[in-house]
Amino acid sequence: MEEKIILYEDKKDCCGCAACASICPQNAIYMEEDREGFLYPQINEQKCIKCKRCVKVCPVKKQQEDKSAVDTDRVGIITLYYENNNYGGMAQAYALWRLINDLGYDAELITYKRLVKSQTVKASLIEKIRRNTIKSLTVRYTKKIKNVLEKKIGKNWEDALRDRTKRLKEFRESIPHSNTYTMANINECASQYSIFVSGSDQIWKPGVVDGAFVFSFLDGIPDKNIFSYASSVAVTTFPDEYQRFMKKELTKYSAISVREEKNAAQFSDLLGYKIVNVCDPTLLLSPDQWQGLAAARQIDGSYIFAYLLGNERKHRKIIQEFAKREKKILVTIPHIKGGNQFAFRIEDWKFGDIQMKSVGMEEFFSLIKYADCIVTDSFHATVFSYIFERPFWVFERIAKDKNVEMNSRIYDLLGRLGLENRIIEGFKIEGVVNDINFDEARRRIEPYLQFSRSYLEKALKNKKSS
Ligand code: SF4
Ligand code: SF4
Repeated sequence: MEEKIILYEDKKDCCGCAACASICPQNAIYMEEDREGFLYPQINEQKCIKCKRCVKVCPVKKQQEDKSAVDTDRVGIITLYYENNNYGGMAQAYALWRLINDLGYDAELITYKRLVKSQTVKASLIEKIRRNTIKSLTVRYTKKIKNVLEKKIGKNWEDALRDRTKRLKEFRESIPHSNTYTMANINECASQYSIFVSGSDQIWKPGVVDGAFVFSFLDGIPDKNIFSYASSVAVTTFPDEYQRFMKKELTKYSAISVREEKNAAQFSDLLGYKIVNVCDPTLLLSPDQWQGLAAARQIDGSYIFAYLLGNERKHRKIIQEFAKREKKILVTIPHIKGGNQFAFRIEDWKFGDIQMKSVGMEEFFSLIKYADCIVTDSFHATVFSYIFERPFWVFERIAKDKNVEMNSRIYDLLGRLGLENRIIEGFKIEGVVNDINFDEARRRIEPYLQFSRSYLEKALKNKKSS
């Protein structure tokens, strides 16, 4: 049973300022007049997502808290997340925050704006030579033409895509966040929390990880509990420099967990002791909690929902044929490429009978929840297909860089669920029949979820012994 939000026990503890009602991202608070004509807030439990923003903004509560000056359980979570418009990325950030929050901690996301690293002179010279071979030039100019086309078509969809960005921002704002930090001032957040968590997603990937994602600014600061939950790497080998950096930084961690089994083996080798792997946080919220976030049905009639992050034309062709064969409407979400909010993948042009461009998190959940079948290459779309118990098929992603490992998280998940047969073999999608035994899948994965939950609870209470 989830904790109920209590704004005040006694009317004397509420001045009727309505700050709580104004800040509520769900519009779950309404002001009700009492017999004397004073207004007091009431919470609509159906709408409330327990984000506690109302409690935090309340001036009376603030005053009471200042008196007792308790800040021991404030948790700062860092993840790959700054202005992230990726559905999976947002879902994992929300899930980890909510899990920790529901365990009774005062958690928030540390908003960290990562700067893209500039190359060394030597590296940029090598890059220049590499880029000027005939093969590279052809690839480069083809890419350029493609980018121009993508931006041009993206412009036609500008209003719809702007709406999507707005909706995603609204969802992001339902999660408490810190001020925005960069590497230049992130050390200022050291005094804000007693517990620091490197959250899930690929924050420890070589080329992505920097000092903020391993809390370099906490070196030498005592009495902080620092741990990782399901951090991910997604490469097959660790470069030497990366190994040295991670080895040094991770010594201050009281507990380390990663998301993929492969990563657990890699970090165990690197650090010389056993590193565990835990599930993606999205799997630890209950189906009811996710159902509560899904919008109403978006599509009339039965449909196949295709959600592709990769740019394989062949995958799109196979899905189109599949939808035609099954006589279902094909619903798609054109993928917006990172960086430019109005550039989408050219491969998504005319892909799908209904292209859902203005889709926020709630609609994304709904599209999965009500689909007759989902076809995807996304790890999180696979997770939510399982959570909402919908038949699904998964394409493997094809990485151009041989050191990038894009599929291990999907293999791990399907292996844990005993659903390896949902990977599309030989470019043939078999059918939409819901013949997946979800009870059996749940039974199989439950011990892993319990282990992950218990790791999180213990890690929050832990402190590295000095
Ligand atoms: S906990 Fe969040 S959603 Fe619930 S009433 Fe308070 S602000 Fe609104
Ligand atoms: S913010 Fe606090 S004091 Fe103001 S109306 Fe809400 S509960 Fe009452």
